[in-house]
Amino acid sequence: LKPTPRRHTNASSATPWCALVGAGPGDPELLTLKAIRLIRRGTVLLVDDLVGDAVLDRALAGRQRLPRIVRVGKRGGCRSTPQAFIERLMVSEALAGERVVRLKGGDPFVFGRGGEEAETLRAHGIEVEIANGITAAMAASASLGVPLTHRAHAQGVMLVTGHAKPGGQSPHWPTLAAAAAQGLTLVVYMGVAEWPQLQHGLLLGLPAATPAAVVQHASLPQQRQAVTTLGELGATIDREGLGSPAIIIVGDVLQGALALALALDARAPAALKSA
Ligand code: SAH
Repeated sequence: LKPTPRRHTNASSATPWCALVGAGPGDPELLTLKAIRLIRRGTVLLVDDLVGDAVLDRALAGRQRLPRIVRVGKRGGCRSTPQAFIERLMVSEALAGERVVRLKGGDPFVFGRGGEEAETLRAHGIEVEIANGITAAMAASASLGVPLTHRAHAQGVMLVTGHAKPGGQSPHWPTLAAAAAQGLTLVVYMGVAEWPQLQHGLLLGLPAATPAAVVQHASLPQQRQAVTTLGELGATIDREGLGSPAIIIVGDVLQGALALALALDARAPAALKSA
């Protein structure tokens, strides 16, 4: 990759600079003030798959000169841009004097490859600034109205990916089930497609009646969710047609939500009859 000519130099940006910015789960209201400030500072935006136009529109509203926007995700039917290419682009643009903003869904340091990118940037002498974003686990919990920790039910929370990197190891679900049985809420990113292994493995250490929930597109207008049990998790995902991007939550923090879902289910036929 050839660096593009230096176009936005000024005395205060003598050190090459790149920001890794969390855009949150999708709702533009969940952008942080810091994220908006850094996005507006950028001259080149490298934008992830999960970041929608609503977020960009909100962050760039009223900005006189728009930055160059490079979509580096699968949107528009393109293949996902390889990570190595993205990192080379970030480095070459920053070294060429651009103020590079890497905009990621959720938080850049939660399954966002922000760690790898920060290392690469620093290895090239580029100053790295990080802005947190609201991660999908938190958006899913808020949109269900259930907490991730609760003094009576959960003393902690595990954020786990259900999807190993190619050739990597999948999570050892029975071990995570044992931890969940000790009172840790389990939150799985990138897990809906892998539900058979997840459900089978977790049932080795948790009762089938353990509450479980799936939230797709948390915080967005097209959000869909289901609250069920671990034993019914896969059947529910299939029946409801829930797919990526989705968060799975497993644990007793969902007890109240499950009781409500079951009560509504039980009432549904009667309600239909009376309609
Ligand atoms: N850095 C992101 C996670 C990126 S990994 C974050 O902190 O949220 C991509 C996965 O995140 C998706 O497969 C899905 O599991 C989850 N995810 C991201 N946005 C989501 C949303 N709005 N609703 C549900 N899950 C989401």
